Amino acid sequence: MRTVVYPGSFDPITNGHLDVVQRAAKMFDRVILAVARNEGKKPLFSLTERKEMAQGAIAHIGNVSVETFEGLLVEYVVQHQACAVVRGLRAVSDFEFEFQLALMNRKLNESVETVFLMPKDSYSFLSSRLVKEVARLGGDVAQFVPAEVVAALRRKLHPEPPKGHLPKW
Ligand code: ADP
Repeated sequence: MRTVVYPGSFDPITNGHLDVVQRAAKMFDRVILAVARNEGKKPLFSLTERKEMAQGAIAHIGNVSVETFEGLLVEYVVQHQACAVVRGLRAVSDFEFEFQLALMNRKLNESVETVFLMPKDSYSFLSSRLVKEVARLGGDVAQFVPAEVVAALRRKLHPEPPKGHLPKW
């Protein structure tokens, strides 16, 4: 039984993340999508919201589960008897940080490997940060994220005014 952990903020989950999850699910027996608390990054969505959106998005893939985590990734990986960490690589710009992270994790625990997966090229420009920016400015993000994420972004960024506060005209 080979388990892999796919960690990230997933604020919110995008079709790029899903592409990586699908590839990992074909390679490993079990994938744990681990939503990091990451309060330092000031996420738009709460940990619970991020977890629920991810759960909805991966529900159709049999061997993927969603959990939350905080603390040291290598410890989480060992606790869950996983053999590796999956990370997505979109472009050269991701490489330097991801390379540092992978080598730091290896220093902390030599038995934890990192596997990099490249998404379909049409997702290589996609990031949670840009999706939030476009949604905030009123752009259509339906082609970038699952439908329930589109709805959640709308509720979060453009909530309807309470009934009593409607303009009188
Ligand atoms: P983090 O805050 O840890 O970077 P993210 O949720 O932004 O968390 O990303 C988690 C992982 O998914 C990272 O390895 C990131 O490079 C990867 N990733 C993000 N967007 C995409 C995408 N469009 N295609 C492939 N991988 C992606």
